[in-house]
Parts: sequence; structure tokens; C-alpha cells
Amino acid sequence: MSLSLNSGLWDTSPLFQNAVMDLEMAAKTMGLDHNVLERLKSPKRAFCCSIPVRMDDGSVKVFEGYRVHHSITLGPGKGGIRFHPEVTLSEVSALAMLMTMKCSLVGLPLGGAKGGIRVDPSQLSRPEHQALIRRYTMEIIGMIGPDKDIPAPDVGTDSQHMAWMMDTYSTSVGHAVPGVVTGKPMDIGGSLGRPESTGRGVVYVIEHAIEMLNKKGPGKLALNKCTAAVHGFGKVGNVAANELHLRGCKVLAVSDFYGGIYNKDGLDIPDVMDHMQKFGSLEKYPKADRISNEQLFALPVDILVPAAIDGVITNKNMKSIKAKIISEGANGPMTSEAQQYLESQGVFIIPDILANAGGVIVSYFEWVQGLQNFFWSEKEVNEKLAEVMLKAFNRVAGNSDKFKCGMKTAALITSVERLSQAMLLRGLFP
Ligand code: NAD
Repeated sequence: MSLSLNSGLWDTSPLFQNAVMDLEMAAKTMGLDHNVLERLKSPKRAFCCSIPVRMDDGSVKVFEGYRVHHSITLGPGKGGIRFHPEVTLSEVSALAMLMTMKCSLVGLPLGGAKGGIRVDPSQLSRPEHQALIRRYTMEIIGMIGPDKDIPAPDVGTDSQHMAWMMDTYSTSVGHAVPGVVTGKPMDIGGSLGRPESTGRGVVYVIEHAIEMLNKKGPGKLALNKCTAAVHGFGKVGNVAANELHLRGCKVLAVSDFYGGIYNKDGLDIPDVMDHMQKFGSLEKYPKADRISNEQLFALPVDILVPAAIDGVITNKNMKSIKAKIISEGANGPMTSEAQQYLESQGVFIIPDILANAGGVIVSYFEWVQGLQNFFWSEKEVNEKLAEVMLKAFNRVAGNSDKFKCGMKTAALITSVERLSQAMLLRGLFP
């Protein structure tokens, strides 16, 4: 399919180009209004700044930061802040577009945004982390707020970063504003179940996929007899691996930035989590063999969960993949070409905007609880999360049947149906 791009500013990354290609494919399949498509292909606004930080040794280092609002048609922007050495404005713009699609897909009154700082988080001390996120918050302060744009953690950031962001914003306006971020610690208005929500959601949709595939086809899969591999062992990957393990699925391999670990009889995931907690990496985990990230993708497992970064399943490794189900914990882990190839081989792909939507769904619950100052039990949070995810899964599966397309295109169609209706109702200013 030919790709028509507009910018040269935010459309330079493969992730953005893939996102536009996927969107164009969905638009063609559903017969989307061309004007709506044109508007969705570009972010609404994109902001870049330099962030000077006094380092521990007294020197000043300058980092590059971004915040992008892709769409605020359905409500305030929503999306994480990424600390990664290779982050670019274009990557952040693509991730903001995915957030727009995700929030629309699961029916939230939120738009799509994303932020990032080009930094290797492992090279910063805790005070340097704090200085960096506080100064970044001040640089983007005009863009964020509970009614404007609500950041959350992403790769390389966590609840502590959100606490510092909330404090910086609150100090600048003179009163506590917990609703300016989600993914906060519990003591300052976080939600129970938020840290686990994305990984849990990744596994809920695997359960729905197995149930649906068993109804449709002759083969019978049972999660407690399946094997799995999980790429990335951070906030999403370790919870997804543990939720699979808790359901009796054998997780044969997990990996992080430094490579992977493998045990043909299944890893003891709680023990791996303990090791990670103590040492901060999977390196030197004693009770498994070492494998590379590439070897992990090629393992003969039933379920593959990419839960690290984008662009890891491409035309270079797609032919080595043997999994029957791929649940995209990460945002944009697969190129369009790899997705089309794998779907043509019968692999059932649960796309990112559906599979990892649990995080933004519980972020929305956190925001709602904070606005009402009324907090729910973890059971309530998990039940509501499961309900929203099941509804979204069924709508996507329904569109996949209706339009005779894969789940990725169907998920985008489902998002765009709602979003385009809202855009047409609101009209174009002036
Ligand atoms: P994280 O920083 O907690 O974990 C990232 C993991 O990926 C770490 O284990 C890291 O070592 C590994 N990693 C990084 N670069 C790698 C590489 N080149 N090869 C292999 N492993 C690598 O981040 P996270 O919050 O778990 O996010 C992971 C993915 O999930 C991202 O794509 C993020 O956008 C997406 N996501 C996160 C959430 C959330 O709630 N945290 C929600 C939706 C989507």
C-alpha cells in the first residue's frame, strides 16, 4: 500500500509511518471519510524543549524533551512519559496517535497524548531523575492539567516520577492537584490495581482469544496447558508473565534489555520477579539458561507477549516466529509487514491498542476516583477492568468478522468509528 505523509517533522520514524499505514488500511477497509483520515494522520500539536539539569558532579547536562497531543476530540489528552535514549519527536507522535486510538476503542472520554525525554534512565541517580522530571514538568506546564492532558508512567518512568510531577504542578498552582497525573503512588491518590492493570489486561484478552478460537475452530487450546514467552520484563512484562504463570501456563522464557532466560520446563516467575527486585536485571539469574532476545522470539511456544519496545517484530525475524497467539503488551512492537505476514500464516494477533489498554482504563478509573474523592477496592477495579476489556474485545472481534480483516485493522476501525462520529458532530473550526 502506498503511504502519503505530510510533514518531515513528526513522520520520520518507522513507528509513525507504520501507524499511518495501519490507519490508511483501516480507512480503506471501512470506507472512512477522506477529510477525517487526513486530520487523524497528524498530531494536533507537538512541543519540543531542552531540559537543563544540574548533575550530581556539579555539571549541567541538557536533555531533549517532547510532549505531543494527537487528539483531544473526545476529552483531555492521555498518555505516558517515556525516558529512553532513542526517543524522538516522531516516535512520541506515533505513540500519541496510538493513545487516541486506544482511548476511543475502549470508550473512554479521553484523547491521545504522549511525552518523552531522550535519556538513558539507568545512567541517572535518583536526585537527577527528580530534577529532570520536575524541570520537564515546568517546561510542559501549559499543556497539562486534569482537564487538558494527564500524563502517566511509560518505559523508564514509574509512580515516583508521577509523584514528583504532581508535586511540581501542585506547587506551581498553589494547591494539591492529584488529577494532573495517573499511575501515582497509593498514598497520594493512586488507584489499587493500577500497577498490574496493563499486564492483567494483556492476559484477559489472551483468555478471550482462546475462548473465541476454540468456538470457531477444531483445535482446542487451554491456557493451563499452553507455553509462553514474554519479551520485556518491566512493569507490563513481569505482570503479564506472572498472570500467565498463575493460570497454569508455562512461561518458558522472559527477557530484558540485557537478554533473556529460558527453562524448558517453565520458569518460576515469582522467583524471577524476586531476583529482578533485588538486582534490577535478569542477568545472572541462576536457575535458567541464557538466551538472546532474538532466540526468545523464535521459541516454539503457543503464546508470545512482546512487552518491551516498538519495532521488534519485523521482516527480519517474522518467519522464525512459531507462536499461535501474539498479545501486544508493548506499543507498536510489530511492523505492518510482519503483522500481515503472520496473520496470513494463521497467527492470531491481539493488537496493542486492545491488548495493552488495561493501563489507560485503570488510569481513567484513577482519575475518576480522584475527582470524586471516593476510592474503590481492588476487586471492584479488576471487575470493571475485565468488563471494559471484554466489551472492547467483542466489538473488535465483531468488526473483524464484519469487515473480513485481521484484529489489528478491526481494532482501528472500531476506534475510528467512534472518533470520526465525534469529529463530524463537533465539526471543523472556524
Ligand atoms: P518498563 O520500563 O517498565 O519496562 C521495559 C522493559 O523492556 C524492561 O524490562 C527493559 O529492560 C526492556 N527493554 C527495553 N529495551 C529493550 C530492548 N531493546 N530489547 C529487549 N528488552 C528491552 O516499561 P513498561 O511500562 O513495562 O512498558 C513496556 C511497553 O508497554 C512499552 O511499549 C509501553 O509503551 C507499553 N505500555 C505500557 C503501559 C504501562 O502501563 N506501563 C501501558 C500501555 C503500554
